[in-house]
Amino acid sequence: MSKVILTGDRPTGPLHVGHYVGSLKRRVELQNSGEYDKIFIMIADAQALTDNADNPEKVRQNIIEVALDYLSCGLDPAKSTLFIQSQIPELCELSFYYMNLVTVSRLQRNPTVKSEIQMRNFETSIPVGFFTYPISQAADITAFHATTVPVGEDQAPMIEQTKEIVHKFNSVYGETLTDPNILLPDNKVCLRLPGIDGKAKMSKSLNNCIYLSDSEADVKQKIMSMFTDPGHLRVQDPGKVEGNPVFIYLEAFCRDEHFERYCPDYQNLQEMEDHYARGGLGDVKVKKFLNNVMQEELEPIRKRRKEFEKDIPEIYRILKEGSEAAEAEAARTLSEVKNAMKINYFEDQALIQEQAERFASDK
Ligand code: ATP
Ligand code: MG
Repeated sequence: MSKVILTGDRPTGPLHVGHYVGSLKRRVELQNSGEYDKIFIMIADAQALTDNADNPEKVRQNIIEVALDYLSCGLDPAKSTLFIQSQIPELCELSFYYMNLVTVSRLQRNPTVKSEIQMRNFETSIPVGFFTYPISQAADITAFHATTVPVGEDQAPMIEQTKEIVHKFNSVYGETLTDPNILLPDNKVCLRLPGIDGKAKMSKSLNNCIYLSDSEADVKQKIMSMFTDPGHLRVQDPGKVEGNPVFIYLEAFCRDEHFERYCPDYQNLQEMEDHYARGGLGDVKVKKFLNNVMQEELEPIRKRRKEFEKDIPEIYRILKEGSEAAEAEAARTLSEVKNAMKINYFEDQALIQEQAERFASDK
């Protein structure tokens, strides 16, 4: 069986370092590993519209931001198909048929959707499109026969829902769809990177992000103003490492060699954490170290972005070409699905013949 990746992001803002450690960095590694037959990376504009119906301009503006982030992180259109969801009408058709295989109560149990409804104050008026987006995600994944979906932890319920749809479809209509597997980051802290405000998740919608496209000065300013341990008032006080976003970011980004370069007082993160917990290590010193580590990671991305920004029409061309390739693939799957569901009347010569005979024998 061929190995296929499908994943993507909503164009609700430029991508942030949570996307980077949660999914984007891994995608680039998988792309360059040469182990995958096909890689599809989707800008999920139709999904973004499910909770931004009144703000299409936001979605429109952010398509290019996300595309620039992709390219500057190393996604390569020669190896990965970069495309825009709304340009593939077959995805809507698939969703429509999958809707018959999922119950309202099943959708209501989705923990990610539940918390997103709360976050967006949708409790009393949930748009139907938003409520059903896990089904549309199943269409996205299955349209490409994806075997591997590299995403952050918040997406686990969506992959679960997709698997259920695949099993149900295959058991009702015969083996057609491919069962996908989630690929989570190995590093536990990258599963769900918190925001700079210490909130559970860095998220475009929560305004607590360090963006990949932020300037060096903005990144520094955000890091220096980050939430830490509120009980750590004086340098000599013992500090809390656990749940402290500054240390969580260090766990996500720093390697031992960073200490040699930027903070030779310690050999590794454990030593720094022990000192912080004992007392005697100030937040400013830790934040300055984090700033050095993150700037080192983000600088090459920023540089490449500046290059790609010089030819914006070329980026749209890449997305158009990718969308055409993606549509061809999705059309193949849709036709398999319609065959399996026996709604392929005009291609089904046996059906036409059978009906002709039925009416002939009625006479
Ligand atoms: P929105 O607020 O519009 O939902 P978002 O910041 O949650 O935006 P998405 O486009 O929904 O971003 O997520 C894209 C991908 O990035 C998903 O695979 C998701 O799991 C991952 N991701 C998003 N935020 C984080 C995070 N803070 N930590 C780890 N992974 C994340
Ligand atoms: Mg999200």
